[in-house]
Parts: sequence; C-alpha cells; structure tokens
Amino acid sequence: MAKAHVVLVPYTSQGHMTPMVQLGEALAEAGLQVTLVVTARVLAALERAESSLLQHPLLVLRSIDDGLNPDPNVAPSFADVLAGIPSLQRNLESLLLEMLAAPFPPTCVVSGTFCSWTQVVTSKVDLPRVELWSSPTYVYSVGFHHGRLVSAGMVPFKGSMEDTWITCIPGLPPVRASDFVREFMPTEEEMEADPKKCEGLLKVVKESYGGARNLYRLLVNSIYELDSNATDDLRAEGVHVLPVGPLFLQNSSKGIIERPRINALEEDQTCLQWLDGREASSVLYIAFGSEARLLKDDMQELAYGLEASGHSFLWVIRPGSVVDEQSFDCILPEGFEERTAAHGKIVSWAPQMEVLAHSAIGGFMSHCGWNSTLEALCHGVPILAWPQRADQGLNKVFIEDHWKVGIAVQKHGGKVKRAAVETAIKQLMTEERGALVRKRVKEVKDTVWKSVQEDGSSRRHLDEFIHALNSLADQKSM
Ligand code: UDP
Repeated sequence: MAKAHVVLVPYTSQGHMTPMVQLGEALAEAGLQVTLVVTARVLAALERAESSLLQHPLLVLRSIDDGLNPDPNVAPSFADVLAGIPSLQRNLESLLLEMLAAPFPPTCVVSGTFCSWTQVVTSKVDLPRVELWSSPTYVYSVGFHHGRLVSAGMVPFKGSMEDTWITCIPGLPPVRASDFVREFMPTEEEMEADPKKCEGLLKVVKESYGGARNLYRLLVNSIYELDSNATDDLRAEGVHVLPVGPLFLQNSSKGIIERPRINALEEDQTCLQWLDGREASSVLYIAFGSEARLLKDDMQELAYGLEASGHSFLWVIRPGSVVDEQSFDCILPEGFEERTAAHGKIVSWAPQMEVLAHSAIGGFMSHCGWNSTLEALCHGVPILAWPQRADQGLNKVFIEDHWKVGIAVQKHGGKVKRAAVETAIKQLMTEERGALVRKRVKEVKDTVWKSVQEDGSSRRHLDEFIHALNSLADQKSM
C-alpha cells in the first residue's frame, strides 16, 4: 500500500499550531509523509524562539509569504490578516504545484481552523481538503448553524446578554448569551462602532463553516464521549466529523514532547522544583493561556482573593498580559509578592503539562482555552473557570454544568470581585463541592485516556483517517 503525503496548513496562533503539529506527529509515526506549511511571520517567530520545530525529525517545514511585516513588535490588525490572504493563496498554490510534480506528491491538505481560504487553492490543484478544528465539536456547531442565530434576530445582538438564553443551536444545550462565542454575535453598538470589522468577522464565519459538507473529513481535537450531541448532529447534517483528541495523547511521547513555541517565552523549570516541596494536591495553578489579556482591575481582584484564600499557588503572569498596565510592578497590589512569598510563586511561562502532571497541583484556575481544558482533564485536575473570550464561555458551561469537572468564578454585574475569587478557591480546594468535582474529574480522566487506547473512539477515528488517506494515495499511484 502506498503511504499518503499530508500537507498541514495551520492557523497562526499558538493554540492552533500546537494540535496541528501533534496531528502531524501522529500521522508521521503511522508512516505518512508530513509537510507543515507556516507563514513567513510564524517562521520568523520559530527562529526567534529557537524552536525545535525547525529541525523536527518527523515533519518537513516549508514557509509561504503572507506579505505581512514579520517584525514581532508590529502586530497585524484583523484587516492586515485579511489583506494577506490573496498572497497566501498564490504562494500555497505554487508550493503545492511544485510538490505535485515531485516524487511523493501530496494526497490531501489539512488546513487549520479559520483557514477556509485554502479551499480555493485545493479546488484549483484538485486535492481533497481536510480541516482540523482545534476546539470542541459543539463550538463548530455554533459556526455551522450560525444562520439560525441570524434568523432568530440575534445578530446583531440587542438586550441583556445575562438574561437571554440561546436555544437554537442543535447539539448545544441552552446557554446564556453572555457565555456564548461573542465574536459570532456582535452587539448593535459594536456593529455601529466598527461595521467593517464586525461584517468582516461574520463573513469569515460564513466562509469557514459554509463548506463543511464538502470537506473530505473534519478532524476535531475533541473526544466523542464528551462531545457526542454536536458530533451526531453534524454527522446527520452530512459533515464527516472525526473526533480524534486529545491529539497530544495520540503520539508515542504522550504529550511530553516540546511544544512548537511561537512565543519567545522560556519555560520556567524552577517551578517544578518548587512544586516538589509542596504537599500533595495543595497548590492552585493559575494560567490564562497564550493570548488572553486581563484588565489590571481583574488581576488585582484575583490577587486579593487569592491572598485572602490563604492557599498555595503557582501563577503564570505573561509579560504584556495586562491590557492597561505595562509595568509588572504595578500589576499586583503593593506588597503582594512579599506577603505571599512563603506559599506562592509567580512565573512568566510554565511547562504547563509537567505542572498539571505534578502531584502537588490540586486545582487549575484557567481561562478555559480548549488546550488547557484538555490538558487539565487528561491529568485529572479540577478547573476553576474564569473564561475571557472566544469559545471559553461555552467551555466553562460544559466544565461546570455538563462534565461537572470544575467550578466557575462568579461574576457580579459582569465583573469578578475578590470575594468571589476567594469563595471559588476555597470551594474547589477544600470544600464538599470541590471534593465532588475532584472525584468526577478522575472519571473523565479515565474516559479521555481510554479514547486513545487501542479500541478507543479517538484512536479508531484516527486509524480510519489514516487508512482512508493511504487508500487515496494507492488509487493515485495506480
Ligand atoms: N501554556 C504553557 N505554559 C503556560 C501557559 C500556557 O505551556 O505558562 C500552554 C498550554 O499548555 C496550552 C497553551 O499554552 O497548550 C494554551 O492554549 P489554550 O488553548 O489553553 O489557550 P490559548 O492560548 O489558545 O488562549
């Protein structure tokens, strides 16, 4: 049987790049040839971070220019990113044509979330297009059924987000509008203030999900048992969905391989030795992922609530992660670090997988980014949910209400206050409710690990995909 050649085209953020690389590793371990195509801007970031991806033993790296300024200090605007698409399309087409004329021509293109611009190119060069969706399937459903929100008069949104329930998305239980994917539902005021941006986003939504039925496969970095309603619904709609997550458990290194870092932050390994000296399940790990930016006010309320709780903590504060304060010294309340030095540690970037695997960790205050959520579930760590944007509010609903593996930090009038932080931490770390959540997260951990074992759902889905690609490659070589 001929071996397939897969060309991966990920979206450019850390949270999307990581699962794509992990998929590539799992495919390469199964004997497929894998080429990873990144933008010139991402390549520059990888070089700056001296990423191991540059000499990856299993993946061939190629880059294409998007015409954007590769300077890391010049963040491209949404409009710049959209303007770069024609250049990406031209350059990807040339690259694929070159590869198609060489030995081991590509069998398919796997493009990342929000890379629907690849559709035009794959049609032109006549290659099947697969998408890797790096959030749960229920979030894909929201995009797929977006037209129902429009028909229900929710776009643009008017009224109170707290008091409005969204019930029109198949596969998704009723959720408050305030927990919904905000970017998919601009308000009237946002539309008026920046119509170009809102319309641009809605156009991306339409294009991203509009072609779902034409995808050769839709791979999702999720687990069928946790996400079955949306998966079944999309299948009934004619979308060939295959939940294959968590992808970091799908290769032999089981998630401990170095991340394809595209930020230049060093993982602070000293926090692991620091954890070695703490009691089992006594430390709260706090991290808000690679992109979230909090208000200084929120950071201060978090710090005051944390201090009042008296619990030990390991807190990741990324440089530049506070919207309205650049100077680190001004982010935290005066004297906070001195007062908590005996039981708290702050780092700017942690080896998160190793931290979550450490026996001293008893809880994870998280923004509920999907990678962080999967990583917590796979290590059986209960979550204290403080979502910030995108799909994180929906993930919080599943974490707290459906899987019952965490507790949400309560908001009052849309804001989190220090008393709510203190209450939530105490509940999770020491009270009855925390004990229930802790028990439940161990059960979910088992479900997650089983899914990637020999007969598990995610393993079967991945094997089915690999087999289908090798058959395609066979047909082409005849
Ligand atoms: N992460 C890490 N060290 C940190 C904070 C985060 O390695 O100090 C990693 C984390 O393990 C996860 C990723 O960054 O894989 C964050 O992805 P997620 O989807 O949770 O959030 P995003 O960054 O996309 O908002």
